[in-house]
Amino acid sequence: MTPRSALITGASGQDGWYLIDLLLGKGYQVHAQSRFPAGPDSHRQEVCWYVGDLTNSKFLETLVGRARPAEIYNLAAVSRPQLSWGNPLETAQLNAIVPHQFCEIVRQFCPEVRFFQASSSEMFGATRSPVQDEDTPCIPNTPYGVAKAYAHRIVGAYRTQYGLHLSAGILFNHESPRRPLDFVSQKIAHGVASIALGLQQTKELDERGQPILEAGRIHLGNIDSQRDFGFAGDCVEAMHAIVQHNVAADYVIGTGETHSIAEFCEVAFRQIGRDWREHVISRPDLVRKTDDDTRANPSKLKSVLGFNFKTSFSELVAMMVQARIELLQKSFEAPAKSKP
Ligand code: NDP
Repeated sequence: MTPRSALITGASGQDGWYLIDLLLGKGYQVHAQSRFPAGPDSHRQEVCWYVGDLTNSKFLETLVGRARPAEIYNLAAVSRPQLSWGNPLETAQLNAIVPHQFCEIVRQFCPEVRFFQASSSEMFGATRSPVQDEDTPCIPNTPYGVAKAYAHRIVGAYRTQYGLHLSAGILFNHESPRRPLDFVSQKIAHGVASIALGLQQTKELDERGQPILEAGRIHLGNIDSQRDFGFAGDCVEAMHAIVQHNVAADYVIGTGETHSIAEFCEVAFRQIGRDWREHVISRPDLVRKTDDDTRANPSKLKSVLGFNFKTSFSELVAMMVQARIELLQKSFEAPAKSKP
């Protein structure tokens, strides 16, 4: 039997990593797009990689034509809301127009394809609703949120207009050991792991251009802001379940629980037997102008797809700290090994 095939864009990112693992495990033939050649720690062997820029429409059309996937997962994005202020037009192009182009390509050339769009809770922006679901109004307040809202709406419009199998998952914050260091969760995990290994200072820098851990302290912005933190490995399972359902639709993908950044610190430092208050500094100059609390209402995901997050908040934090400790230990060992 021919294996089912899937195309993943932005496949070298956090979610791409977990989705590739999931689909390979299910026997899929996986096609993956990135702007850069796959590195040695990627799924280089098992996956068919395509290198190119999705904002080049010729490349986009050729990509779909060559991969001929049964399912497309569009994960590529300028994915940091704050950084989208630095590249607002590129953000609009990649996060809004590329998903629209995917809708057109599916409509014109491959209407049998099932398409998944990675929407974001950042679309809700300044909404006053304390809990957000598929019907919560969007008041986005960053170029990232505005572009994601456009993509979300256009995917829904094409689904209604043409009866195509186009779905969107409204993803809330999700983390993992593969989260880049410029996200607060990984910054904390890295700082905690460094302390656990006896360091007072890291060579990795934060947004101030200063060490993430400086004189035994991590410098953060608003530690009271609340997030619905999920595990990325669980989120990609939700994406897959959404695409398998016979009826295409929008789903909120979040745990339904919120935790503050301070709680994240508390659980992370508890893991190494330390008191977080001795190591964390909250600085007014690092507080963002727009920083909206998020909390998903995942009732639809549960009731229609029977989907539940498996990884708890404390398991997620512990996993990230442990992975960071192991990574740091390996980096200490590496130069020693290379000695004659
Ligand atoms: P990542 O940032 O880890 O991955 C996104 C990928 O997009 C990158 O690896 C990059 O791949 C690609 N990309 C293409 N063009 C650009 C560009 N101009 N700037 C930056 N990246 C670019 O994101 P995640 O895996 O965490 O997220 C997957 C999707 O889910 C994204 O669409 C994101 O917006 C959305 N989402 C994620 C949330 C989260 O908490 N993780 C929450 C809500 C939504 P390459 O460099 O190889 O081309």
